[in-house]
Amino acid sequence: MKFGTYVFEPKKAEGFDFHLFRVKPEVGRRLPPVSDMYSNVAIFGDNVTARNHPDWISQSPLGPAWRTNDNFNVRWDILCHTQPEHRAEQLDYIEDVARHSPGVWLNSIHFADHGHCTCPRCQELWKKSGLSWLEWRRKEVTDYMKEVSERVRDRAKKKFVIGVLPDPVSSYERFGIDFDDLAPLTDEFLVVMFSKNYATPWYWEMLTRGFKKLLKDVPLNIALYVFGPGDNPSEVPAPSELVTLSVRAGRAGADGILYLTDKASQIWDFQKAVVDRVELRERLKTYGCQEVLDFFKSWEKIVE
Ligand SMILES: [Zn+2]
Repeated sequence: MKFGTYVFEPKKAEGFDFHLFRVKPEVGRRLPPVSDMYSNVAIFGDNVTARNHPDWISQSPLGPAWRTNDNFNVRWDILCHTQPEHRAEQLDYIEDVARHSPGVWLNSIHFADHGHCTCPRCQELWKKSGLSWLEWRRKEVTDYMKEVSERVRDRAKKKFVIGVLPDPVSSYERFGIDFDDLAPLTDEFLVVMFSKNYATPWYWEMLTRGFKKLLKDVPLNIALYVFGPGDNPSEVPAPSELVTLSVRAGRAGADGILYLTDKASQIWDFQKAVVDRVELRERLKTYGCQEVLDFFKSWEKIVE
């Protein structure tokens, strides 16, 4: 297994195998990539572009994909998947980011949710395709990922990781995602499993197991939520929950675990809290994933 940080600033915390820097998160702001951290880019979830081009927002019978539309689980504004200028600009941007960092990990690669996008352009493209609505959406997502993969892997010669939402069952109907289509295009998968608490690790362990089965031979990374931008310290996951879940995800087959914080210093706070949970780590020795416990133990020398 490999362990990484997943942070909003270009700063590396000690004691990890790799680092993922959010150069363009879904809020749409962009920061320059750095040479020793992977770059994380959200493509269609993009508040800045949506504000500058409100007519590019994804449309549906239940309304547009503004983050205020409660019919969908949209946490940010999501653009139409076939908007040609955005697609072209993002291709060039992602290739440039790849050239200036060790590789690119993507989020928000897909349609906003079920029923999207019904803008006049998408309707016309669908009708022209001769495919069913769901198959047309699948083809749009797969074909665009082929183009991005080609830019990152073949042209920039960098590592390429596709990120997906934690829905192993309905991603085709909701987002246009077919995991078998994407598998040959990516070096690894990232499944974002963010939550403000992990009080019932059973569910997350089940999701890990489900994705491990679904994604076959492609390495599976999961990302866990530690401390997000602007969070109240009393409303973030307890370190003990994160320790327990890490062990249980490890035994369920996760090949990598990333820990999300806003700042690198919050990673250090997390490490300190994990090291302090001596009894819990001792108790988890019978859970069947010593590798994660050994990794946590390696932090003892960092937080001393
Ligand atoms: Zn559209």
